[in-house]
Order: sequence, then C-alpha cells, then structure tokens
Amino acid sequence: MPELPEVETIKNELLPHIVGHRITGITLFWDGIVRQPSAEEFCSRLIGQEITGVARRGKYLIFSLNSGNLLIIHLKMTGSLLIGQDSSEPPKYTRAIIRLDKDTNIYFRDPRKLGVMWLVENKNAIVGKLGPEPLEADFTPQLLAQRLNNRTAPIKALLCDQGFIAGIGNMYADEALFAAGIHPLRSGKSLSPEEVEYLHHAIRQILWSAIGNKGASVDTYIRPGGELGTAHFQFQVAHYLGGKFCPVCGTPIERIPVRNRGSYFCPQCQPLP
Ligand SMILES: [Zn+2]
Repeated sequence: MPELPEVETIKNELLPHIVGHRITGITLFWDGIVRQPSAEEFCSRLIGQEITGVARRGKYLIFSLNSGNLLIIHLKMTGSLLIGQDSSEPPKYTRAIIRLDKDTNIYFRDPRKLGVMWLVENKNAIVGKLGPEPLEADFTPQLLAQRLNNRTAPIKALLCDQGFIAGIGNMYADEALFAAGIHPLRSGKSLSPEEVEYLHHAIRQILWSAIGNKGASVDTYIRPGGELGTAHFQFQVAHYLGGKFCPVCGTPIERIPVRNRGSYFCPQCQPLP
C-alpha cells in the first residue's frame, strides 16, 4: 500500500503536470471509485474547473479547484496515478481518466478497485480526524510522548493508526521500530522517554529518506511518469520474504501478527523487556 513517502512522491511529481490546467472531461470505467457525491454530479461539477494546487495529508491527495471545492483521492492498496497524453493507450486496470487541457491526462489505475475519490467543499469531512503529520515541525518528541501516554495498544498498531499519527503503514512502521530497537508488541505507554526520542528520530529519518528515494516499489506502486521508486532497497526488515537475517546482528528476522498485520522484527535488537 502506498504510504506517506509514496503519496508525497506522487504529489510532487504530479504537481508540474497539472497545476494551472483545466479539467476538460472525466471518464469513469467503474462508478464505485467515486464515494461522494454521485458519479454523475462528481463529473459535472469537476468539468471546467482549474486545478490550483495539490497537497498531501496522511495518505490522502487533496487537489484544490478554482471553485473552492476539493478533489480528494485515496489510493488504498493498489492505486496509482499516471500522467499520459491522449495518444497513449490507458494503462491496464485504469478505472478513471481525468482529462486536462494541453493534452494531459491523469489515469487512476487500480487493479483491486479499492481506491476512492471524493469531491467536497470542506476537507475536514474526510481528513479531519487524522493524527499529526510526522514530518511537520509541530511533531516533536514531546508530542509523541504525550500521545503515547496511557496507550495500552501495541506500538506497531498505534503507528499504523491514522488517527494516532498520519501517513505511516505496515512497511515504515516496521522500519522505524527496527531503527529504534523497539519490539512491535510493546505497549505505547511502556516506552521510556529515551525510546520515544529514538522512535521520533527514526520515524522522521526513515520517511525523509524514503521520499528522497521516491517511495518503495513493492507491490504495485509506480510513480506518475511510470518510473519505480527505490526506497525498498534501504529496507532492513520490512517486506521480508523469508531466509533473511538481521543486518545488524545476524539473527533471523521474525514475523508475528500484530492486529492482523504481519510485523517483521529482529528478536535480538528489538527485545521484549
Ligand atoms: Zn538484530
């Protein structure tokens, strides 16, 4: 699933192709991709609008329009947004095409059909309950400590909870916990102030580095121009496929379920106290 670094890369790479462009047409190959309003109203309200900006909040992309409305997209498990021209064949599994002026198209490709679009007046209806952005200046070790206070849930589950912190999913949660030396099943409140500092640093360092590498092309993630990201080449434990050893101590990486998600960790470097 695309996480913060993948969605941030998509935003950065879409921006120069679409901002200042006017929407001239929408083709929906599957109406279920529009969550709100009706597919018909969605199309009629979008056509003629100019895209004035693109932002990211958590794993959501937020396109601002000159009407003041917002087009919000969540790519879910397998979605990607590709840029192409009218002359190019839509990629396989294209569920929607947003046509722009100057011969530019956005293809919403999504093999599993889980991705969603909304057209809203107020973004808070969709993203209002998200937790803090981990790369913003106001996400401090103190804020993380405050939010962990009294939380009995496993730290791995908290990191993947979008209301606790926005944008992190399975891959980057495993990487951050490994870098901080924290077992995925430790409860939020059990972390010492020093561990909270390590974790805060690890989260930011890992997300920045993954953005620098344009996201991780595991599964179906591809960048808007069709290129792959290389962040997964830096992974220490995430997306372990068996037979892999800890790059620090050589112990075999283990996999345990945490709230139904496979979590990869080194039992030696991330011990349970
Ligand atoms: Zn180890």
